[in-house]
Amino acid sequence: MLRMKDILDEKDKRLRTISKDVVFPLTKEDKKNIEDMIEYLTNSQIEELSEKYNLRPGMGLSAIQIGVNKRYFVVVDEYEEGKFDNYVIINPKIVSNSMEKIYVELGEGCLSVNREVCGIVPRYARVTLEGFDMNGNKIRVRGREELAIAFQHEMDHLDGILFYDHIDKNNPFKDKDKYRAI
Ligand code: ZN
Repeated sequence: MLRMKDILDEKDKRLRTISKDVVFPLTKEDKKNIEDMIEYLTNSQIEELSEKYNLRPGMGLSAIQIGVNKRYFVVVDEYEEGKFDNYVIINPKIVSNSMEKIYVELGEGCLSVNREVCGIVPRYARVTLEGFDMNGNKIRVRGREELAIAFQHEMDHLDGILFYDHIDKNNPFKDKDKYRAI
């Protein structure tokens, strides 16, 4: 079972590496990692379990956040109270996006960043990704609003980018009116 200590902190240089494409079939370790990531993200969003195991809540993790230099991520989306959709996307690419951009009004969060960071991180309001599932089948996934942000946040991790890299240091709320807050 994954715990907070297994997730790399922002100071860890490995988070800045560019992850490598996955070659199929997946290894046993990768399958296990994906199961562990789904379990962590689900439990962390269930209050009783997040308290019991001391898990910081989060909806996404990329492999590099547990020290694995490969291009895949997991997003667990609570689409309705207590109901979760799991997204496992391997070798993902954004194939289309909306013109409209949005940002998280309260600030984006990351399980590798254990502090609050204020400022606007502009993200597409809607994205379509293509990638592969765990069996190597091609998949196409659409996300909007919070889910779209989660996909873009995790895609960034695969290229060594952290969410606050997008925030203007001198003016964290620059161009606020250009984007829609969610
Ligand atoms: Zn993150």
